[in-house]
Amino acid sequence: MSFSELGLSEKVLSAVEATGYTTPTPIQAQAIPHVLARRDVLGLAQTGTGKTAAFTLPMLTLLEQGRARARMPRTLILEPTRELAAQVEESFVRYGKNHKLNVALLIGGVSFGDQDSKLLRGVDVLIATPGRLLDHVERGRLLLSGIEVLVIDEADRMLDMGFIPDIERVCKLVPFTRQTLFFSATMPPEIQRLVSQFLSNPVRVEVSKPASTATTVTQVLVASGSEDYEKRDVLRELIRSVDGLQNAIVFCNRKREVAVLHRSLQKHGFNAVCLHGDMDQHSRTQALDQFRSGEATILVASDVAARGLDIPAVSHVFNYDVPHHAEDYVHRIGRTGRAGRSGSAISIMTHEDNKSLAAIEKLIGNPIPWSGEPLGEAPARARRDDKRGGGRSEKNRASGRGGRDRERGPSPDRERAPERENSPARERGPARERAPNRERRAEHAEGGEVRERSRPPRAAEPADHHDAPVAARQSRPPRREHDRSANEPADMSHLPAFLLRPVRVKAG
Ligand code: AMP
Repeated sequence: MSFSELGLSEKVLSAVEATGYTTPTPIQAQAIPHVLARRDVLGLAQTGTGKTAAFTLPMLTLLEQGRARARMPRTLILEPTRELAAQVEESFVRYGKNHKLNVALLIGGVSFGDQDSKLLRGVDVLIATPGRLLDHVERGRLLLSGIEVLVIDEADRMLDMGFIPDIERVCKLVPFTRQTLFFSATMPPEIQRLVSQFLSNPVRVEVSKPASTATTVTQVLVASGSEDYEKRDVLRELIRSVDGLQNAIVFCNRKREVAVLHRSLQKHGFNAVCLHGDMDQHSRTQALDQFRSGEATILVASDVAARGLDIPAVSHVFNYDVPHHAEDYVHRIGRTGRAGRSGSAISIMTHEDNKSLAAIEKLIGNPIPWSGEPLGEAPARARRDDKRGGGRSEKNRASGRGGRDRERGPSPDRERAPERENSPARERGPARERAPNRERRAEHAEGGEVRERSRPPRAAEPADHHDAPVAARQSRPPRREHDRSANEPADMSHLPAFLLRPVRVKAG
């Protein structure tokens, strides 16, 4: 099948030809004719399948009729993160080069003023993250009553990030008669409910089984001790020794780990950049550009920040942390092995990850093989004692990793005891067990778009969380910055003076 058989306009076909694409991908071939026929479409497709063009190309064709009015955009595309929104904008610019359409991006981290003046000029295609979009609506700067086509992209990610209430609000603000194009990689019940409520007799287009992993990706597990310095040690060893590494994305579960690991890799001479939601837009774009161009070979990232990003050739994905949610694993490893290329996904496993691994293997329907010795069955108590004793964990000795280290001599991390002592590892474990969902919501809030509320941040709230959804911000469990080394005197500056007075204890 060729693009010319899909019903696209001449202008669109010539732009597609200029990009060098000759054949539509399956999602494009299936969805485009229905979009052009003004049907609602439910697209079950992962990123990397060409789904952006599946809605961009027919929308451009439809937009050739009619023109935009001030503050009343004609089409609206909702994306969960700023990066995805920016990527969709790029697609409109690329495929719309023969059109004179106004495309506007409404994302956080960018001044309201510039966005407002674009809205005033009239917008054909509005690409937005839910929070910033609703902020503009609430300020009376934007009317959604002229929307002809509504695209909800990465709906399952919106769900993870707590954006479903915002999506529902938007769906109620756009005209009942609009056309809705809805894309999601998976179909959990909450998403199914949205579909039933807001889509009208949709055509269902499915290009691969939900949560399936690409067959071009080789997946393995590598055992590690649970401490951060041990995991970093394993990661460096892997980066240095795996075959065919051209570039790699290293995923961490939380943005704080992203920052720590990024600094550590840089210290060890790796050419690494990082991507997490606490970074400003300029730094995010710069990091991505450096990684895309090959200037940086390693991108350390959190799930949300990296979700759906179009980085065409990634040879390796490392799960520095095994993700708590199985779908995240599928999305992470989907960063490699794209467009038929082969890729490799290596997950660093500790005893704490057994439950997450079981869920992942259940979801993907296969056990993931070990590279090297698997983790031993050390009971939790024994492992803790082992760590307290300052030695390497039982499983690492069993795997021979400790032996290799002995041959190599002490690792730089172990020589740098202060870094290890400052590691948040011990702090993190219990906190994560206590509130996995709350933590996850907070983490997901980071890379996604978030409402700028009129409420000022509470005094105790760090300024950089002002952006996060309210529920996530308020439920974030308190965390100490550093763990102390056993011999280091504690910082007592926060204690009231009476608690610092020496206490006399009566003998006998
Ligand atoms: P997406 O799933 O939209 O993130 O697209 C994944 C990648 O496939 C992007 O790099 C697109 O530029 C590319 N792509 C989209 N459509 C085609 C096509 N018909 N032929 C080849 N590559 C494509």
